[in-house]
Formats: sequence, structure tokens, C-alpha cells
Amino acid sequence: MSLPTEEDLKRYDPIKADITVVLETPHEQDTESKRVFEEKVRHVASFRKHLEGMEDYSTIARDDYCGVLSALDYLCFCGEIFRPAPIYSNMLPLTFKIISDPDSTTMARTWIEGSRYVLGINVAKHDTPLMLIGTLLHEMSHMLIHKLRRQEQIEGRPMLEYLFGATGHGYYWQRLARVVEARAYEIIDRRIDVGRLEAISHEREASGIVPSQAYYEMCYGGWESSDGKPMAEVASEYVESCHNVRLNKEALQEMAFPNGGE
Ligand SMILES: [Zn+2]
Repeated sequence: MSLPTEEDLKRYDPIKADITVVLETPHEQDTESKRVFEEKVRHVASFRKHLEGMEDYSTIARDDYCGVLSALDYLCFCGEIFRPAPIYSNMLPLTFKIISDPDSTTMARTWIEGSRYVLGINVAKHDTPLMLIGTLLHEMSHMLIHKLRRQEQIEGRPMLEYLFGATGHGYYWQRLARVVEARAYEIIDRRIDVGRLEAISHEREASGIVPSQAYYEMCYGGWESSDGKPMAEVASEYVESCHNVRLNKEALQEMAFPNGGE
């Protein structure tokens, strides 16, 4: 599996259609859905407020996570993550694994055990409520991709495995995260960061493939940085500079400890 190239982007993509249809459903079609929408917006706002008064995020209750995940699913994923699917007899339940490890570089991780999502959150790597919400949206994007992937497998539709990426942050994740971040800007707060840049960088390291300019355009076309530069350019510079930093570190390490420090 690897990052797609320009040529790959022209090929047929079964999930692209699904994600576009799913996430363009308007919420405010009638009075009842408008009421639910407003209720979910208030739920996220009160979660933020609750966190602002907290010293230590490791004490966030499981019910508070469940509540905000359900609200975010409704607002940013049109309820698709926890909607019962024909492949499951009921909704995918969630298990949380909360850790607090300031030395780890991992902020969070999602995986499936049986038909259960497991969401692991490293609360020590989160300083603000918005940072935590950004991480939840990042992980929820993985959840929806997991779910769509299983649906495609069960329904026997061919999938382009390499578009999932070497680390799960490939083309499908980036496409979805772009839409999700745009919705979160509109509905919750413009400062939310879903971690798309870090995800490209991570993927670039793991796959060894340099993303094409077309790929950056797919991720960031139409977006601008705070100083008005096209985000596709900023992103490509950022990812390559991270890559160089890593390379230089390795080169220095090799010079200093030619035999791995023994
Ligand atoms: Zn991720």
C-alpha cells in the first residue's frame, strides 16, 4: 500500500462517491432535524466548557466521551459512524482506553476488535478542549473509513487497497478529513485542527513515496494559510521539511555512532 500518484487519482474510486453523498446531506431539512442539529451544537459547546474548567483530562467520564462523539458524528459525519449498518446487528459500541503518557508521540489511535471500535486517547498530549475535539474528529474519520471498508468487502466491491495508505492516512482518509474539517470550521470553531498535515507527513515517511502536487491539491486545493499562501504549497513545503529534519537526524546519528552507539 502506498500514497496515490497523479495517475492513481484519475482511476475509479468507489468510496469517493459514498463519502460525498453521505456528507452532503443537509441537516436542516425540517423543524425536527433543525432542533436536533441545534441540540448537538449545544452539546459540543457544553463539552468544551466542561473541559475548560478541568485541570486533568484523564478524569473525563466515559459518558462525556460517548455524548460528544455522538454529537460530533451527527454534526460532522451526518450520523454515519454510529448508524446501524446491514453488516452489523446493532450499533458499533465503543470502548475507551484512556492513557496519560507525556513521553509518547502518539495522541490517539483507533482500531476494531470484533465489531467494536476501540478508541485509545493519550490525554497527556492534549492541552485544550479544541485540541481534543480535533483528535476525536481525526479518529472518527478512521472509524468511518473502517466501516466503509468493511461494507465494501462484504458487498464484494473491489477496493483500491493502496488508497487506504501505509498508515491509514492515505487518499480515503485525507478526502474525508478535508470535508470533516471544513464542516467543523463551519459548525464548531475555525481553529480546529484534524491533523491532516501531520497525517501526510506520517504517510510520506512510512510509504517512502513523495506525494505529487495533485495530491496536495486534492487535500488542500482552495484553502489558504493565515498569510494568504495556497495551503497546497505550504503543506508540501512542511512535509518535505519534516522529512529533511528526520533524514538529517539519521545522518548525524550515523556519523556520531557509526555502529548504532555500541
Ligand atoms: Zn490517524
